[in-house]
Amino acid sequence: MAGDVLFDRIALIGVGLIGSSLARVIRRDGLAGEVVGCARTEATRKAAMELGLVDSVTEDAAAAAEGADLVVLCTPVGAVAEIARQIGPRLKPGAIVTDVGSVKRAVIDAVAPHLPDGVHLVPAHPIAGTEDSGPAAGFDSLFEGHWLILTPADGTDAGAVERVTELWRHTGAMIERMDADHHDQVLAITSHVPHLIAYTIVGTATDLEDHLKAEVIKYAAAGFRDFTRIAASDPVMWRDIFLANRGAVLEMLGRLTEDLTALQRAIRDGDGKTMETLFARTREIRRGVIDAGQHVPPAAPSDT
Ligand code: NAP
Repeated sequence: MAGDVLFDRIALIGVGLIGSSLARVIRRDGLAGEVVGCARTEATRKAAMELGLVDSVTEDAAAAAEGADLVVLCTPVGAVAEIARQIGPRLKPGAIVTDVGSVKRAVIDAVAPHLPDGVHLVPAHPIAGTEDSGPAAGFDSLFEGHWLILTPADGTDAGAVERVTELWRHTGAMIERMDADHHDQVLAITSHVPHLIAYTIVGTATDLEDHLKAEVIKYAAAGFRDFTRIAASDPVMWRDIFLANRGAVLEMLGRLTEDLTALQRAIRDGDGKTMETLFARTREIRRGVIDAGQHVPPAAPSDT
């Protein structure tokens, strides 16, 4: 799928799972004249160079962004405000800033105030991932067949939106545009709350007395095993997601708690009919997911 250069200079701020996967696509398809990476640690910077993901690498986000036509923020969402503050004054007129964060409204609120006039903000979220982190964990097919949600504000320069869209087309992602708040609500229930449940259930199991804990791990059936995989996701990234999407997550958790209480009561009352009705309804939803082709991630085991 090699094609024309889309951007003369792309700066990737953060070269972890998501940044390095995007870098692999950019390299594979020759989409940039030059790719500059930025990471905090020497280990990540060294790996990014050794893996051939970037032409040069720096720990200075502003230096990386200077002269870039496209800046992609690929750090945990809690880091983007400070990065935007640093890079803002060094961005060239007409530059596009995009990101890959799992929460959109908080990222927009954190980044937009630091961008000078004439710089375009086109937020994005690839709903694809694994529980692994770092530059070596990435692969060029990570986004294939997964959704990529763009959440630019109304009135954002159409040319800038199209250029970011074109970049993501090369990843094989299915691209959709959405309002940022709507995105955060949808992701709260489809991704964020499920992760919270996984963190909780694995935490509860490991708090059990020692002998029980050993058996929980020994006899981990598929259900619990899946939870442990999800609960192995990056702690800093997920801390930031819950802090950034607090409102929508709390709203969905409130509903979930009510539904859980109703189910608890049905169990206590021996009300099999209520349970069967619910389980039949959820089975139908699973069939809908299968019909929509979303049941088996083509490249990765976890969506964020
Ligand atoms: P990751 O593998 O942990 O990589 C994070 C990268 O950001 C690393 O290169 C890290 O550098 C760098 N970084 C962190 N803080 C920084 C700072 N203050 N300045 C410069 N660089 C910094 O994380 P990831 O999984 O790629 O996630 C990145 C973003 O993608 C997050 O916002 C997340 O919400 C979003 N996302 C993740 C997934 C997923 O499943 N993982 C899916 C969709 C979207 P060092 O290694 O040197 O610390």
